[in-house]
Amino acid sequence: MNRKEIYKKHSKTDKYKATQKKYRDSPKGQMNSKIRKWKHRGLIAINYKLIYDKWYYSSHCDNCKCEYSKDNVKCMDHDHDTGLFRNILCNICNLNLNSDNTSGIPNISWNKHDNNWEYCRKIKGKRHRKYSKDLEWLKNYKKEYELKHIYTN
Ligand SMILES: [Zn+2]
Repeated sequence: MNRKEIYKKHSKTDKYKATQKKYRDSPKGQMNSKIRKWKHRGLIAINYKLIYDKWYYSSHCDNCKCEYSKDNVKCMDHDHDTGLFRNILCNICNLNLNSDNTSGIPNISWNKHDNNWEYCRKIKGKRHRKYSKDLEWLKNYKKEYELKHIYTN
């Protein structure tokens, strides 16, 4: 057996799965998983661990100073053009700062120039846009699009 085959056999064992789960649930595993998600969303940082620490210990929104809750969760705010980290915000502030006249739905905002709702999302490096006057239709479109392109491979 070569290394690849050994790995393949090994990766299916319960012992290996348990070790993986233990790692994922550990503070280091949690941190790395979070950082991986941020990188995937385009966040660029010189020191990701430093930002993670700031994120981890942040209990109040940098903008409105409210305490995070289940309904108003902690969000990572970054500049969508440069990818650079800006703030740690509550969900409400994050939505409002990133768009004018927010729909309350992430990635859907009112486009003043076109007089339309605009859905804009960058997935795997590709930017996708869709416009509609019908917000409900666009919400459904977003759901289907993301199901197809994010949650499946
Ligand atoms: Zn806030």
